[in-house]
Amino acid sequence: MADPDLCTKFEKLLKKYECKYCYFIKWILIPEMIDGRYFCEPGSREFVELDSIDVEHLDRKTSRKNVLHRVMARVNFSGETCSFPLIVKLPKQNIMETTLCGSFLNEEMFYSKMTLNYGTDGISKCYASDLGRFDGQAVIVLEDLVASGYKQVAEKLNENHLKLCMKALATFHGKGLKLKAHKFPIFREFYAKLSEPIDWLHLNTSPGSVRTSELMVESTLDNPECLDTSLYSVLPVEATLSEKIRAKHNITSKLEFNDFWTICHGNFTRSNLFFRYENGYPSDVKVIDWSTMRYCSPSIDFGQILLENLPDDNNLAKVKAFCQNMLEIYLDAVKDVYLEVDRELLERDVIAKLPFAYGMIENRMLRKTGMMLRALDQLGSFD
Ligand SMILES: [Zn+2]
Repeated sequence: MADPDLCTKFEKLLKKYECKYCYFIKWILIPEMIDGRYFCEPGSREFVELDSIDVEHLDRKTSRKNVLHRVMARVNFSGETCSFPLIVKLPKQNIMETTLCGSFLNEEMFYSKMTLNYGTDGISKCYASDLGRFDGQAVIVLEDLVASGYKQVAEKLNENHLKLCMKALATFHGKGLKLKAHKFPIFREFYAKLSEPIDWLHLNTSPGSVRTSELMVESTLDNPECLDTSLYSVLPVEATLSEKIRAKHNITSKLEFNDFWTICHGNFTRSNLFFRYENGYPSDVKVIDWSTMRYCSPSIDFGQILLENLPDDNNLAKVKAFCQNMLEIYLDAVKDVYLEVDRELLERDVIAKLPFAYGMIENRMLRKTGMMLRALDQLGSFD
């Protein structure tokens, strides 16, 4: 009888080497990056060579379009060894497909071009973001945040986490608005690629076009396969509020493209946030997965992170104060990076578009949505 432990060990070993991406990372990507001085400080002239590489297959996301590997690259700098904990993201490419999917291209653009203008605060360090230099394989090579002490939050984000998130989000949105205002030719290249589908713009700027509702348009675009027409048909709130929402629902002239549109993350949720802690409190946040970026109302990102992390409190006044406080933090931080912004107009715009963010939230739990809608009502989103 074979030792079951030995069997699993053997299976693990097999698994470790069967993946063609593991092979690529170990024998092509990392050695070429070392030769190309990707791990050296800019301008350094020290002698550099490969020491060793460990590759771990992160295949919990097998259904996704990308494959992730955790890599430890040890590099020798003039005789001294340094370790680089990395996450390598590679698009799964089908033989039948010759083009990469848009989401990978978005993220590649983010790391190779946008960070040059947006800066790298709040973003994982990127060692390589390239579409073909390494044996024709598209790659994104990032620092492994877990190895640097960052953690994800398993449960809902608390107030301290959320405050950090609001600042990080506002900084990203504000930098985009500033870039749009001051360096439009640069901004144009980014937003042009993130404005798909074009119908979205067209739909919302042409008067008289027939639409079922703006709320539907938004949520359908995001999840074309799960058109939920019942989204607003049954509302877990009081009859008066329900009526109010329905009345608002039929106004189709509100969601227009406007000056506040900027590049948004598109999925600014807990699963894409890593926190560092000092004395038990979150002190820094890093945002990952920029593949869902798009050009839209900043309210979409703001509303998503806010609504998914409302405090567990049935006191409406408290929830309202909590939301207002988060909005203040957000608006102040936008103003910090983009001084010319009309804070008051932006505030009104964010509030008015929050129902769209509500429409985007996946897996809404019925017992929570009542509070989400009441919070939006308190903020004035349905007025
Ligand atoms: Zn692998």
